[in-house]
Amino acid sequence: MTTFSETEERQELRRQVAKLAGTYGRDWFARQARAGEKSTELWLEIGRNGYLGINIPEEYGGGGGGIGDIAAVCEELAAQGCPLLLMVVSPAICGTVITRFGTEEQKRRWLPGIADGTSTMAFAITEPDAGSNSHRITTTARRDGEDWVLSGRKVYISGVDEAENVLVVARTEDARTGNLKPCLFVVPTDAPGFEAQEIAMEIVSPEKQFTLFLDDVRLPADALVGDEDAGIIQLFAGLNPERIMAAAFATGLARYALDKAVGYARERTVWKTPIGAHQGVAHPLAESHIELELARLMTQKAAALCDAGDDMGAGEAANMAKYAAGEACVKAVDTAVHVHGGNGATQEYGVAGLLVAARVTRIAPVSREMILNFVAQHTLGLPKSY
Ligand SMILES: Cc1cc2nc3c(=O)[nH]c(=O)nc-3n(C[C@H](O)[C@H](O)[C@H](O)COP(=O)(O)OP(=O)(O)OC[C@H]3O[C@@H](n4cnc5c(N)ncnc54)[C@H](O)[C@@H]3O)c2cc1C
Repeated sequence: MTTFSETEERQELRRQVAKLAGTYGRDWFARQARAGEKSTELWLEIGRNGYLGINIPEEYGGGGGGIGDIAAVCEELAAQGCPLLLMVVSPAICGTVITRFGTEEQKRRWLPGIADGTSTMAFAITEPDAGSNSHRITTTARRDGEDWVLSGRKVYISGVDEAENVLVVARTEDARTGNLKPCLFVVPTDAPGFEAQEIAMEIVSPEKQFTLFLDDVRLPADALVGDEDAGIIQLFAGLNPERIMAAAFATGLARYALDKAVGYARERTVWKTPIGAHQGVAHPLAESHIELELARLMTQKAAALCDAGDDMGAGEAANMAKYAAGEACVKAVDTAVHVHGGNGATQEYGVAGLLVAARVTRIAPVSREMILNFVAQHTLGLPKSY
């Protein structure tokens, strides 16, 4: 039977995560960010409680669940004002790729630390001269005896300061041009030749972004995850989870903003009734709620397809979910700022501080235009322009 609500188990997971995240809350998260402190305490606590590794197989220290579960965790954290971007990369992208394509030895080495949060793994594909066009990446891996030697540059890589390793997307030397034949390497952040420089961002978050310089970083043979010749399939295995998680991050953030706005609109009175009685205030909130529920439904559908192993179906749904979630998030946060009037611009009310993070949900990890391109070409069969 098809059902449009989540299982009781999933709903209970949401309640438990919301309860835990609520003990930290937005004030804590913003305070840590503004003081230049980290969100490690929360990260490790969700790890200890089994939420961070909920999608990792049980034999490697995880909960044996799926992307739907880890996306629910991500959404509930964000809905409490604590959106953790590193959930998208460490358990969802890196965890999935290593689970599906790592050797037994690689899974034993890396998955338990990803699951309990003690050994976070960042993910690096974006480059200054490639951006949305991943086929142009030039980070190159060359063989030297048994070893690999990696050189290149990456930008906007999240959480490198909190990570023990980075899963780096490179190309082999003999595949330097043409369509991307990527290969994936686990690079320790303390490897000689590896340098990370923080990028000053306008996002209120303890999690930071970095430029990476890889200068002849020497790696052992088993740093390569999966097959050197089947990299594109391995990379795609991480991309559906990435989009689903980004959608969950965005819908969670939107829920947080909308809750605040609705609470304010119920109380704030400048005429005879609370401002929420005016349709000019109420309708945008209702519209936002509808758009948000639609985005959540598509996110859950994408996760269900992904967990059922339908990579193609999940690809389309994950793109659509990410698009819908980004749009819903931008609108919800903008509406929340507006409903708060002047208070909307203060640190005290805490909504303006969400603006840049919300705006980024339209850009990363894949922009709205690239999703529209995907749907135009793959779903509608329209010609490609680029
Ligand atoms: C906060 C944050 C965290 C991030 N974390 C990571 C991370 O951990 N790891 C990682 O690898 N990357 C990360 N990124 C990078 C992110 O994935 C890229 O910013 C994103 O893919 C867009 O690439 P770009 O910035 O180079 O933009 P560009 O590719 O330069 O695009 C610029 C604009 O042009 C538009 N555009 C480009 N091509 C087309 C086209 N063919 N048709 C129509 N429009 C087009 C885009 O939609 C966009 O609006 C992060 C980015 C941010 C902001």
